[in-house]
Amino acid sequence: MEDQTMSNLERSRIARADQGTYETEVSIGGREDLATITEECSKNPGHTTFKSVENLSLQDFPQEYQDPDVLECALRQASLTVCLVVNYTSPSRPEKFPGSDNNYPFYNMRGSNGSRFGTGSILAIHDIDQYSSNCKCYCKECIASGNPKTEWGKIIVLTAKHVVFNDEEGQHTEIELFYDSVTRDQVCKLSGTVKYEQMDYDWCMIYCPTHDMTLVRKLQDNLHRYDDLKRNLHTKYMPLTPKLAVVTSHPHGCHKQITVGTWTEREELGPKHTRYTYTADTCPGCSGAKVWILAEYEECMHTCHMHSQAITVHRNMSGVGWY
Ligand SMILES: [Zn+2]
Ligand SMILES: [Zn+2]
Repeated sequence: MEDQTMSNLERSRIARADQGTYETEVSIGGREDLATITEECSKNPGHTTFKSVENLSLQDFPQEYQDPDVLECALRQASLTVCLVVNYTSPSRPEKFPGSDNNYPFYNMRGSNGSRFGTGSILAIHDIDQYSSNCKCYCKECIASGNPKTEWGKIIVLTAKHVVFNDEEGQHTEIELFYDSVTRDQVCKLSGTVKYEQMDYDWCMIYCPTHDMTLVRKLQDNLHRYDDLKRNLHTKYMPLTPKLAVVTSHPHGCHKQITVGTWTEREELGPKHTRYTYTADTCPGCSGAKVWILAEYEECMHTCHMHSQAITVHRNMSGVGWY
């Protein structure tokens, strides 16, 4: 029985603890409680190792990676990082992971509208006009207008399934791009539909239509540059067996932060399937964030490593990625 005298902060704390080692943020009171939640953070008090997009510099990287291309790659990854606000928890969440005694995150929040916060990243942008002129934009604005635009794009966002479980949750998810500072002056919002998800690898893909072609081109440029930098840096540093790991995320559902560390364990989970443990700091809200492992180059963006869990304070673990 829910205690009505309990404060939203207290209820958020209980719901957050319920996810075990996963790192979603929960704020029953919505965004307005996030500043207090950040201040009360016990995992990384003060968040001194977290750098905003504006403050990240070469000195934040270990000496051997103080390379302008490494800095640019981290910032390009950040430009493709989105904040996810999930305002509904699906009744379909299972109590336990299939075939396991481990609790599945947020079973106890099923059916509630308390907000959960996570991170996602843009993994592809399709320019629709290029492929088919018959197809029309289905963003909310176009549906409401009755006159859908014919030139539009589809932005594909990747996150963790424990953050956005299915389309029922996807329909209640706000996707915020360019949330880079407290002022929120650059924020641009998208919404979309969950098309694919997989429980054992903990990933979920959201397709977001938009007819803002300036946005589509900007994201395409960022993605191409990010991919080129990542591939070139991989080739350049591989002979040195690089250990760099960089997380770009929205800790506590607040503005974007970058943390830098090294990977400490690489698990092989079948042919070409890997999972990493790293020292780059993470907090609740970082679930679903992209982890750039310099030693890995995925042939395809779908297969990247996303932040999943905290093993200990400075030992964090990704979901499964493959190459
Ligand atoms: Zn539209
Ligand atoms: Zn924190």
